[in-house]
Amino acid sequence: MSTRRISGFKPTGPLQLGNYLGAIRPTVQGQDRPTVVFVADLHALTVPHDPERLRELTRQVAGLLLAAGVDPDRTVLYRQSDLPAHTELHYLLECAAGYGEVHRMIQFKEKGGGSGTRLSLLTYPVLMAADILLHDITEVPVGRDQRQHVELTRDLALRFNERHGPVLTVPQAVHPQVAARVADLADPAAKMGKTNASTNGVLFLLDPPDVLRRKIMRAVTDAGTEVTYDPERKPGVSNLLDLLATCTAREPSQIATNYQSYGQLKSDVADAVIALLEPIQRRYYELTDADIEQSLVQGAEAAAVRADATVLRVKEAMGLAKKPVTSGRPAPADIRATPPTAPGPR
Ligand code: AMP
Repeated sequence: MSTRRISGFKPTGPLQLGNYLGAIRPTVQGQDRPTVVFVADLHALTVPHDPERLRELTRQVAGLLLAAGVDPDRTVLYRQSDLPAHTELHYLLECAAGYGEVHRMIQFKEKGGGSGTRLSLLTYPVLMAADILLHDITEVPVGRDQRQHVELTRDLALRFNERHGPVLTVPQAVHPQVAARVADLADPAAKMGKTNASTNGVLFLLDPPDVLRRKIMRAVTDAGTEVTYDPERKPGVSNLLDLLATCTAREPSQIATNYQSYGQLKSDVADAVIALLEPIQRRYYELTDADIEQSLVQGAEAAAVRADATVLRVKEAMGLAKKPVTSGRPAPADIRATPPTAPGPR
């Protein structure tokens, strides 16, 4: 079978430069192979969330993926919640997963356990396995931190196939050669992240040029004045050199020799980041809601063909129905899209 890849983007905050350099750009550059890209809105429900903000962020993430070069005519791009097959396979795989193996997952250990913890925070690694297995994916490009989830996916697929025959494609994790890890400009020890507590050191893809420049000019640098590439002893300056190197496809240690001051380096990083993001921002603001929606719907329709077939294979192997049932009858009058006017007690 040919290589098939998948990438998901969780709409829990506005996308930032680390997302672009570490995940979006490699995905865009790899579109010569069959690729599936989805906005993982179901995964955004594992922690407290605001429905309106989730909807807006989902639209924004989808728009930025398109603006950054995800080509909906070559790549299947869709919104996870548009495909019921995700939640259906999630449940079916829960019946192949053990409590112990899911409970051991790092995210739950780090964030779960309190009284307000949603059950979905425990079970989402199984949803992630469903995301991957639905599409017969062979390769999952992930950072080292996500390796555990791909291992679980493999374990579930292998176990399922052992019990029920060769139903699921077993994927493998692949790691980018040089893993771009963009650090927070205000705290070089931390990863730049869309949900970091302070946004001072986070370069959002939709930050206007003056905001990008201000954040970069205020980046934390290190003791001394010499510009050298030394991630251990000079993490702040090295992060800036890494950024400039990734934006301009050069070597950070070689770039360092061109600079006598932090100020000039920062100014050039600002120019490079602004030039990198300018066409993406321009294309993003040209997209209408209708353009984005149309791409997502077209993507969901394309994705459903393979995803529905996988679910049917799994159901049949597990002893469930072989065919989906569609009634074809009009909905009864008492089934309406609008809720009753006086909601009862919760
Ligand atoms: P997240 O925003 O954590 O949902 O991550 C989405 C994708 O972006 C994943 O593939 C991450 O590895 C990647 N990513 C997020 N932040 C960074 C960063 N600071 N540097 C490099 N890659 C990142």
